[in-house]
Amino acid sequence: MQVQYPKHRWSDRFLLLDLLEGLKTTFRELFKPKVTIRYPEERLEPADRFRGMFRFSYDRCIACKLCAIACPIDIIYIDVHDETREVDGKSKKIKVLDRYDIDVKRCMFCSLCEEACPTKPKSIWLTTKTYELATYDRNDLYFNMQELEYWDERPKYTGLPEDESLTRIADERKLIGEAPRPSTLDPRP
Ligand code: SF4
Ligand code: SF4
Repeated sequence: MQVQYPKHRWSDRFLLLDLLEGLKTTFRELFKPKVTIRYPEERLEPADRFRGMFRFSYDRCIACKLCAIACPIDIIYIDVHDETREVDGKSKKIKVLDRYDIDVKRCMFCSLCEEACPTKPKSIWLTTKTYELATYDRNDLYFNMQELEYWDERPKYTGLPEDESLTRIADERKLIGEAPRPSTLDPRP
């Protein structure tokens, strides 16, 4: 089927009606409240049901492995051993957690692990509202149980020192075969 385009009138060429139609939309949007924010200076609070970075509680965990079984892509690695301990004057056999690792770089944040966890409150949960997981190395997204438990106390990223940042940009330009710009190497007068 051949597409039929409307014929241009001679007056359109002089009156620029299409341009004015576009500008009408621009001016209408200009005075509406903005939905964008100046990240990272400003941050939006995620919704209550937002699934973000994991948190884990070693004290609550009973080492049942149900979360690892529920995970559809098998990225939770748990090792346990049995120990006999004295509980309330009775000798009891309990499971002790040796390893609890999550390969978060492969995670799809489906929360099935959290749903499967039988403890109350949950020993693993994703409702931390933490979404800033960007890293330069994918392997940094493999977390052990200490990192999962003390995520909030991790050293905060403070940005590269100015000189280091400039050298890195110059190196990247060299890698892609682009000549380093004098302003990139030393922007100071
Ligand atoms: S949220 Fe991640 S770790 Fe948990 S079950 Fe889903 S894919 Fe597995
Ligand atoms: S986090 Fe929950 S489901 Fe996973 S091993 Fe611990 S108690 Fe079991």
